[in-house]
Amino acid sequence: MKAFQYVNPANEREAVAALGTERNRILPMAGGMDLLGLMKDYIVSPERVVNLKGLDGAIAADGNRQSGGLRIGAAAKVADVAEHAEIRKLYPALASAAEEVGTPQIRNMGTVGGNLMQRPRCWYFRNEEFHCLKKGGSRCFAVDGENQYHAIFGDGPCHIVHPSSLAVPLIAYGARVRALGPGGPREIDLGEFYQLPNQNLYGETVLQPNEIVTHVILPPTGPQRSASYEVRVKQSHDWPLALASVHLMMDRDVVRSARVVLGAVAPVPWRVPGAERVLAGRAVNEAVAIEAAVAAVAGARAMSGNAYKIQIAKTAVKRAILKAAGLPVA
Ligand SMILES: Cc1cc2nc3c(=O)[nH]c(=O)nc-3n(C[C@H](O)[C@H](O)[C@H](O)COP(=O)(O)OP(=O)(O)OC[C@H]3O[C@@H](n4cnc5c(N)ncnc54)[C@H](O)[C@@H]3O)c2cc1C
Repeated sequence: MKAFQYVNPANEREAVAALGTERNRILPMAGGMDLLGLMKDYIVSPERVVNLKGLDGAIAADGNRQSGGLRIGAAAKVADVAEHAEIRKLYPALASAAEEVGTPQIRNMGTVGGNLMQRPRCWYFRNEEFHCLKKGGSRCFAVDGENQYHAIFGDGPCHIVHPSSLAVPLIAYGARVRALGPGGPREIDLGEFYQLPNQNLYGETVLQPNEIVTHVILPPTGPQRSASYEVRVKQSHDWPLALASVHLMMDRDVVRSARVVLGAVAPVPWRVPGAERVLAGRAVNEAVAIEAAVAAVAGARAMSGNAYKIQIAKTAVKRAILKAAGLPVA
């Protein structure tokens, strides 16, 4: 890997001051698991790396909102999220998604900020031999190539899938991120944080090169039910083939409103309003869950090798809904 300068800032403001405006010239590093891999493979070769391990890593009540909610520091570990008693009780879709990330070692090393900001796993993007669209080339090699793990939603022109298992339930809960840049902090709805390739081909988020994520803010909970369900190639340390997170706001046994989000099927966490509409105003049973799951994949489009992902995404949605409702997952 190319030699680089290492900066160890004392606080979040110093971290921001050490960054710059040019993409990939100076990069923040948290656990380093994703970034160091990209550097070793010459996908990015920053001149300077800014250590973010010293950022706030606490998980605490959101003091800015009297009505409740939780504030998760970007340096919190994925394992801290999985094990946190209040998250397990009030935000189970997040706890279970965190619990299934990688392996215990990966969860103990990977941070929340790094997880949300990790780059796509596309093997053409990750291979320096392929000068793909996302790296300034003229084509997406997945279109005529090996595309079994690529997107079934989003319509390209680059067919990556979003990799963060935490972003999916966080969006289902309506979470926001606090970003800090030279001009001060700003809060962004996580549902508007990620960008499609036709909005931002060389990056995946609205974050500027001189901004960092410092916190994730979960809104207060009400009468609700929620769950995540993911499908993997096998029970191993790999990323999911599809992940569904469901958040149902309840009026006794009836769903008042729902948020259904899919991961690993589109370049961004993919909200499926069609499924949400099916659930609103209904009591959940298996037939309703199947109807919503069918609606969830209505707009999916397969490439040559990934049609199977449509069925998997449908199953993940159905099972997440049943799990959220406390019904047997068939
Ligand atoms: C074998 C394996 C299996 C995995 N399985 C899963 C899985 O199933 N689900 C899942 O979600 N993840 C999975 N991961 C990913 C793992 O969780 C992430 O690599 C990890 O969370 C990245 O965190 P990090 O702290 O090491 O980030 P880093 O590698 O330090 O950073 C990742 C990226 O984010 C940027 N960055 C980091 N922190 C910030 C910040 N606060 N603000 C702005 N930019 C920042 C960096 O510049 C870099 O581009 C897996 C990883 C491995 C190695």
